Amino acid sequence: PVILGIESSCDETSASVCADGTILSNIIANQKIHEAYGGVVPELASRVHQQNIIPAVQQALLNAKVSKNDIDAVAFTRGPGLLGSLLVGVSFAKAFALANDIPLIDINHMQGHVLAHFIGEDKPQFPFLCLTVSGGHTQIVLVKDYFDMQVIGQTQDDAAGEALDKTSKILGLPYPGGPIIDKYARQGNPNAFTFPEPQIPGYDFSFSGLKTAILYFIRDQEKLNPNFKEEHMADICASVERRVVTILLNKLKRAALDLEIKTVSLAGGVSANTDLRLGLQQLADEQGWKAFIPKFEYCTDNAAMIAIAGYYKYLKGEFVGQQVAPLARMPF
Ligand code: ATP
Ligand code: MG
Ligand code: FE
Repeated sequence: PVILGIESSCDETSASVCADGTILSNIIANQKIHEAYGGVVPELASRVHQQNIIPAVQQALLNAKVSKNDIDAVAFTRGPGLLGSLLVGVSFAKAFALANDIPLIDINHMQGHVLAHFIGEDKPQFPFLCLTVSGGHTQIVLVKDYFDMQVIGQTQDDAAGEALDKTSKILGLPYPGGPIIDKYARQGNPNAFTFPEPQIPGYDFSFSGLKTAILYFIRDQEKLNPNFKEEHMADICASVERRVVTILLNKLKRAALDLEIKTVSLAGGVSANTDLRLGLQQLADEQGWKAFIPKFEYCTDNAAMIAIAGYYKYLKGEFVGQQVAPLARMPF
């Protein structure tokens, strides 16, 4: 089957075509407008989705060299996400399905991030653990089958990406902070400064303490040297990034050892992070595990992961009707 995938949960408008499990196109329109506000403004995000959705879909069809009559089903992100943003993608998907008389497939965005691992030749075997880290989520997911997933650990406060975005704000860097911190960190020493590792039971995480520790650290240093931030930007970024990465990987390691699972993976926007990718590979090599890390373009929000998830749901024959509505909060 040929599946059209639609993603609009946050501030990326994305469309993708997947034919029999192979991604033929993946168009991602980023929204620059939010940079000026230091974060996503929901009301603006939905308006830009409205402008971008048709061109994104047209480009996805064009790049895939298919016409709209070739599409067998439309898969869309139903949630979780910003309601106004989701509404644009859901409404488009419904209209497209109705006009072309094809079935609709609803996809959970977080399951989509996990199922990005099934794009391409080298696919993980079940069961595996997926560390799903993004702007809104930080989860360790036990993946037993395509749509049989269990969150065994999650953040009690901020998400990992949110912690990086907030740190970058403290450092006076633009939004989104994750990629910029990553860039600075490449020139810095990750052991220059030490930030605390929170003691949280089980496989859960906490990042709000880290953010406060960084805030106080910068404030104290600036009393001694007003140019501290500017002079030590690379070392600060490398040290913060290393702490976030060790917090994440220590928990993943513990979960994998406890559950005796030998396949570990990353998903979500923060899995674009250089130190995290290297760290996971190193952990897997040490332990004799297999590590799976998606290509960069399938880490941050994209419709290819929705299209591939749609493909597997299509094979199960699981469709939804025209009454379907988006869900801002959507458990697995
Ligand atoms: P969710 O998937 O939870 O709904 P989202 O849609 O905001 O949230 P994604 O697009 O998956 O999330 O991820 C965005 C996050 O990834 C941001 O917090 C951003 O800073 C972070 N990020 C992107 N690239 C990098 C990088 N190279 N290093 C670290 N973080 C990064
Ligand atoms: Mg985004
Ligand atoms: Fe996401």
